[in-house]
Amino acid sequence: MSFKAEYIWIDGTEPTAKLRSKTKILADSEKPAEGADLPIWGFDGSSTNQAKGHASDCVLKPVFVCPDPIRGGDDVLVLCEVLNTDMTPHETNTRAALAEVAEKFAAQEPIFGIEQEYTFFKGARPLGFPEGGFPAAQGGYYCGVGSDEIFGRDVVEAHLENCLKAGLGISGINAEVMPGQWEFQVGPLAPLEVSDQLWVARWLLYRTAEDFEVSATLDPKPVKGDWNGAGAHTNFSTKAMREGYEAIITACESLGEGSKPMDHVKNYGAGIDDRLTGLHETAPWNEYSYGVSDRGASVRIPWQVEKDGKGYIEDRRPNANVDPYVVTRLLVDTCCTALEK
Ligand code: ADP
Ligand code: MN
Ligand code: MN
Ligand code: MN
Ligand code: MN
Repeated sequence: MSFKAEYIWIDGTEPTAKLRSKTKILADSEKPAEGADLPIWGFDGSSTNQAKGHASDCVLKPVFVCPDPIRGGDDVLVLCEVLNTDMTPHETNTRAALAEVAEKFAAQEPIFGIEQEYTFFKGARPLGFPEGGFPAAQGGYYCGVGSDEIFGRDVVEAHLENCLKAGLGISGINAEVMPGQWEFQVGPLAPLEVSDQLWVARWLLYRTAEDFEVSATLDPKPVKGDWNGAGAHTNFSTKAMREGYEAIITACESLGEGSKPMDHVKNYGAGIDDRLTGLHETAPWNEYSYGVSDRGASVRIPWQVEKDGKGYIEDRRPNANVDPYVVTRLLVDTCCTALEK
């Protein structure tokens, strides 16, 4: 007997990489005890902006495997990293650099919870937007209920169920401030785990929505004008931050030092200056600030964290289209270097 393995990878599309996948039929005898030991595979990199036609082979190396909730049975989803044929990381492989930083600072036990916002589209319009017009202004949609406020809940419920069946560490969902806009959260998990699982949750979002003939986008500003953009608030803590307030402040301060604000923001997703305008619950992209309960700051310390004197911080800057391998690497590198001193 055989089973189906959906090999998923991140391509080289500029300025924001896309997910790709294809199916491999494997014999039951090829099912390893450890998922990541599934066979390596390859693809045509000249079709994914990852190679030139005359040397087009790229290698897929499995890094995270989970049950496939779409096909069911023994079938699996296989998230891969992309390697060159000499088995070195491909230039589009951002996971390899995170693996190094995560290993270096593992003793500080960094964990992340990422809030993934996204928007459903039906044709050229966000789901719930009337033909040739605009819906009522923002206000009632966030965490709303009822068919005048909620668009796409059937897709959202199916996606949540699929994430749970796949065993992903999804921790919640909510309707967002614009019709057709939603959020799910993954974590808290270690840097590589949260990132791998967020990529698979994104793939499941697109794949689930496909069956409803709806598309989902991580566009950070899907509708221009007086509508919130879509972000990926990144909640972060280390063991020291979970134990005391001094470490919380050290982390917040480290993110404001020298070139750090720009080093981070320019890697927080394409189009970040369109979203971080200083309006719509954002801080201006070129000014760093942090504060307790402040949804207009770059980094928020939740009120409960100040009250308890320990916990985590929320970096509110990352765009919905951010690469989780990059944002988690930057936060671990900046904050854990400062906390080590
Ligand atoms: P918000 O109030 O900003 O909408 P959410 O509830 O959507 O917050 O998301 C908060 C995220 O923070 C969740 O994914 C949660 O698992 C995560 N989280 C909670 N505690 C920690 C922690 N100590 N370290 C990192 N992430 C955490
Ligand atoms: Mn072919
Ligand atoms: Mn949230
Ligand atoms: Mn949100
Ligand atoms: Mn948030």
